Amino acid sequence: MATAEISTVILPRSPQGEFRNEPFIDFSKHDNAHAMKEALERVGDLLGHEYEMVIGGERLRTADKIESHNPARPTQVIGIHQKAGAEHAEQAMQAALKAFATWKYVPLEERVSLLLNAAHIIRERKFEFCAWLTYEVGKNWAEADADVAETIDFLEFYAREALRLSKVTTPIQYPGERNELLHIPLGVGAVIPPWNFPFAIMAGMTAAAIVTGNTVILKPSTDAPTIAARFLDVLEEAGLPPGVVNLCQGGPAFGQAIVEHPKTRFISFTGSKKVGLEIHERAAKNQPGQIWIKRTILEMGGKDSIIVSADTELDEAVSGVIAAAFGFSGQKCSACSRAIVEEPLYDVFIDRIRERVAQLTVGDPAKNPNMGPVVNAAALQKIQGYIEIGKKEGRLIAGGNIVETPEKGYFLEPTVFADVAPDARISQEEIFGPVLAIIKAKDYDDALDIANNTEYGLTGAVYTNDPEKLNHARRAYHVGNLYFNRKCTGAMVGAHPFGGFNMSGTDSKAGGPEYLYLFTQAKSVAEKLR
Ligand code: NAD
Repeated sequence: MATAEISTVILPRSPQGEFRNEPFIDFSKHDNAHAMKEALERVGDLLGHEYEMVIGGERLRTADKIESHNPARPTQVIGIHQKAGAEHAEQAMQAALKAFATWKYVPLEERVSLLLNAAHIIRERKFEFCAWLTYEVGKNWAEADADVAETIDFLEFYAREALRLSKVTTPIQYPGERNELLHIPLGVGAVIPPWNFPFAIMAGMTAAAIVTGNTVILKPSTDAPTIAARFLDVLEEAGLPPGVVNLCQGGPAFGQAIVEHPKTRFISFTGSKKVGLEIHERAAKNQPGQIWIKRTILEMGGKDSIIVSADTELDEAVSGVIAAAFGFSGQKCSACSRAIVEEPLYDVFIDRIRERVAQLTVGDPAKNPNMGPVVNAAALQKIQGYIEIGKKEGRLIAGGNIVETPEKGYFLEPTVFADVAPDARISQEEIFGPVLAIIKAKDYDDALDIANNTEYGLTGAVYTNDPEKLNHARRAYHVGNLYFNRKCTGAMVGAHPFGGFNMSGTDSKAGGPEYLYLFTQAKSVAEKLR
């Protein structure tokens, strides 16, 4: 959909100085709170529009539709979208292949400029994008802002990283030769993001692919299609040529079709372990006419822990656990779903957690409570199932109930179980909701053993004043993102390259210096000097 609010942007744009993380909005300032309320009103008037599928720059409609709904008031339609089926995979692939033939040779500066323009547009309209996130997936203001800021960061960071990568060469110049190492694009990629960071992850995976010269079939989550449609508008405004990003909203059937397509060169996926493994298997199967091994970049789930050592500052640890467990209702892959507490501090820690949970507000994210809803009815049901399991496996010390609202939103109380065994189901399985398990550890070694006892390895944190304990964790705590004396959520682009071990995925380290390599292949060129 071409939007009326599109502003004029001047091309080309080049990086302004070193990369800096986008500052967060301070909503305690009256002007910012006012701007957010205004944006919610403005975007409120745009809800329920129909958006087209975009293939090769053409707008298309399908008979089947996908509707996205506000999880805080499920009868409110956020956007109506086309539903690509398996039959659209070929059409999207042909458009992406055609665009690849030229996009791969477009000067790097132009591709970089596209990302920087997009970052500029989003920065200028930050509150508006926050409002879309509040409506479509139920983020409160700060969570929405963090998602928007991370989107801008990915665009700015990958723009600079692409320039850096273009200068990488062989470590040695062989005498009598000129040696080069060219990082060339792979081809057409399927980009399949989750709903929980529907702006940042969706835009980040797309931006990394296109800035390195690939073209993309983007299949967003069915829970967050509108944000992706809005992003495509931004890219087009920023100068995106037709076919470089083909936006096809669709469910698993379309996802499977693009994963299986013989011309798909790579799949950049972030989502659950179950779907990630399925994609891994499907992508591994050689299809008739396929002439390469598909590359898969798979970032998956987590079961993340915070270790609270007996010697730590209790208040800091409690604040970190509360923020990481209940921020965005626990719907982050990095969320703290297990607090592993050394025995001497265990009882007092539980008391403090109980006190702090009682202060959390739950409600419509448009009104900016601590916690909004969970994303949909299926998520609500799944989490309730885990709460029932938790009642058998542990001692319920807070929450456990649905929060009823007149609009029948998908609200749950922040829920905490104590005395959970390290091998309990709620200690092992990803719940992806506002449910925290507290586990008692005999001592620090025991705490580390427990922290490492799941099939995942995404994030983790340790609160302690003892540098020896931190050194020990540096070596022994097996997670992709380890944090000391701070919460285990809130990774910052550039500072905390993100990605996990084991069943948490392929450890791609999004927002890090190696990420763009995953979207390229290196060609060694040697020229004999005459
Ligand atoms: P999901 O796996 O259900 O869906 C992810 C994407 O895959 C969606 O676009 C979905 O439509 C698509 N999909 C579903 N079935 C498919 C199939 N058979 N073939 C191809 N595509 C298919 O995950 P979700 O519920 O959207 O997101 C939550 C999950 O994502 C959690 O497990 C969370 O931990 C994980 N996550 C991981 C990271 C990370 O960086 N490791 C970041 C965010 C979220």
